[in-house]
Order: sequence, then structure tokens, then C-alpha cells
Amino acid sequence: THQLEIRNLHAKVTDTDQEILRGINLVVPRGELHAVMGPNGNGKSTLAKVIVGDPEYTVTQGEVLVDGVNILEMEPDERARLGVFLAFQYPVEIPGVTIANFLRLAMQARKGEGEEVGFAEFYGKLKGALDTLEWDESIVERYLNAGFSGGEKKRNEILQMLMLDPNYIIMDETDSGLDVDALKIVAKGVNSMRGPNLGGLIITHYQRLLDYIVPDKVHIIVDGKVVQSGGPELAKKLDTEGYEWVKELATA
Ligand code: ADP
Ligand code: MG
Ligand code: MG
Repeated sequence: THQLEIRNLHAKVTDTDQEILRGINLVVPRGELHAVMGPNGNGKSTLAKVIVGDPEYTVTQGEVLVDGVNILEMEPDERARLGVFLAFQYPVEIPGVTIANFLRLAMQARKGEGEEVGFAEFYGKLKGALDTLEWDESIVERYLNAGFSGGEKKRNEILQMLMLDPNYIIMDETDSGLDVDALKIVAKGVNSMRGPNLGGLIITHYQRLLDYIVPDKVHIIVDGKVVQSGGPELAKKLDTEGYEWVKELATA
């Protein structure tokens, strides 16, 4: 079973009683990208962070199965080695680390210690990825995220993704603050990876990104639960009708 399966997932803010996820159920087979939408403040980012093991949240019930293996007891780096990749909502700056350094370290971490990332392999892949993203090679000598525009940060996330060959991607609000040209490049990067080996969740409040990355399914989260699932037309409906009607589903 090559799929990301979330079963009755409950999670709270660590060291508090504040429950945010209240029984999420989702199955994303490899080969499919699903959109996760919903009003602000309803648990979308929490879901992403719980999947990658952010200690800010504690799982109180349920499972997250990656290809049949429950990952909830694993450290974040072990999850990364299974090929679960989170594109951060707010990418961090790491002083003194260039993009090239960072990508090499990340690729090595993904492979584990047994296998070296060869120089030729690294540069070959890097060239291909930069080409897809229409980015000049000189960018990789810049320090990670330092002085990057919003668009450059996002493009850098997609560069990481292209380099790491994830099995599952989780993108959280990757579209926020992007102009149409940047959005198209991000989408081009993601679409270039689509295929039978890649599954993922595209988390977004707005339908806009989904014009370019057309999801196989759409799920709506309200109050920490999936209240409705459907095809791409569901995202369009949210775009025209807003979120009021889904909030009512949650209380019904
Ligand atoms: P979304 O991504 O759907 O906008 P979030 O998952 O970021 O929502 O947040 C869901 C709810 O949980 C919000 O009300 C938010 O304020 C709250 N929340 C998330 N993380 C924390 C935290 N670390 N401490 C307290 N409240 C939090
Ligand atoms: Mg939010
Ligand atoms: Mg969010």
C-alpha cells in the first residue's frame, strides 16, 4: 500500500489541553495530489506540522501511516528519510549556509549515512532543477533565504523538493504572497514531479494555486475535521461561494 493514510488523528498543543485536530481521516495514494482547504485557524497548518513531527503538537489519538508504517513515533529526520517533505509556510534563514551547502546536507540526510551523495550526481540534478525553475545557477551561492523576496523563498522550497525526490510532499500556503509569474514557476516545479511515485497534500486557503496545480481531490477542514471531500470543482465552489456554507456543515 503506497499511500499516506491519516486515521482518526487527534492532536493538541503540547503542554496544554487545547485540542486542534479532532479526528482527521484522509488517504492519499502515491500518484495523487490532494488539496486541503478550509477557513483560517481550523487546523490545516497543524496537520502539516503533526505529519512531519513538530514537537509543538502532541498526538493524543490516531495514526499517520506512510506506506503502511506508522510514523508518529519517529524523529523528524527518520520521517524525512521515508521521503516525507514539508515545504514550510514561513521558510527560515540560516546564517552562513549557502543554498548549495544546504541542498547537499539535505540530500545526504535523506539518503542516510550509508550512501554518499556524489558531486556529479549533485550538480547534474541541480542543473536540471534550476532549469525547470528558470533560475540562474549563481543563486545557489547565496545564503539560504537571506534577503530573499517572498517569491525567491518559495522557489527555493521547490528547488529543495526537486533535489530531494520526496515520495510525499506537503505544501502549506505555498501560494501566499506570490504574484502570478512566481505562482506559475512554483506550479511548473511541482507539476514536473507529478507521476505514479509522488503523493501529497497541497494546503491552501485559496483556489488560485489550484488553477495551476490541478488536484486529484479536494478536502475541506473545519474545526479540526474533514467536513467535505470532492473533486477539483469543490475548490471552485469555495472560490465563488466562500466558506460560510462549510462552517455550517461543521456544526450540523
Ligand atoms: P490554519 O492553518 O487552518 O489557519 P492552524 O493549524 O495554524 O490553522 O491553527 C489552528 C488553531 O490552533 C488556531 O486557532 C491557532 O490559533 C491554534 N494554534 C495553533 N498552534 C498553536 C499553538 N502552538 N499554541 C496555541 N494555539 C495554537
Ligand atoms: Mg493560519
Ligand atoms: Mg495555516
